Amino acid sequence: MATNFSTKSGGNIKSKTELRGNEYGKAEKGVIVCSVCHNVYFKKGWHKAGSEPITETKLSGTGVHFDLCPSCKMKKGNLYGGKVTIKNVPALTRDELFNLVAGFGRRATDRNPQDRIMDVKTTGGNFVVTTNNDQLAAKLGRKIHETFKKTEIKTSFTSEPQEVSNVEIVFAK
Ligand SMILES: [Zn+2]
Repeated sequence: MATNFSTKSGGNIKSKTELRGNEYGKAEKGVIVCSVCHNVYFKKGWHKAGSEPITETKLSGTGVHFDLCPSCKMKKGNLYGGKVTIKNVPALTRDELFNLVAGFGRRATDRNPQDRIMDVKTTGGNFVVTTNNDQLAAKLGRKIHETFKKTEIKTSFTSEPQEVSNVEIVFAK
């Protein structure tokens, strides 16, 4: 059984300079585990909890560092990458919309553990969904718009101070 990540991967991180200047540069010495969601950073990407290298790496010693992943950092700072605001949702459509949003979020996170729906707030017929990445909000907006034909959609992006997308969907009365 391999006792550490580099044995298994054959020293996969080839260029140390590639990681220099990266806030997760210390990954070159091992893997990083998010202390909140337990996502694991290796091979220049975040992977879901229980990913292979972490089960093969001793949890003590120098191979594993604890930190926050970008998503959890964002959440901690009350930031988001995209926001979908849905207005005038008809009463009979609210459950369906909620299920669509929840299912979309689950599938996105399955594909990439760093793609997340952060929060869903509903007030009567208004929904506000925040995501940790701007593209995810834009995709969710398109999906809602395609599913519910009687909607209008407006998407805007801002790049300062960080990239954020704002999607507004309005159900026709
Ligand atoms: Zn995390």
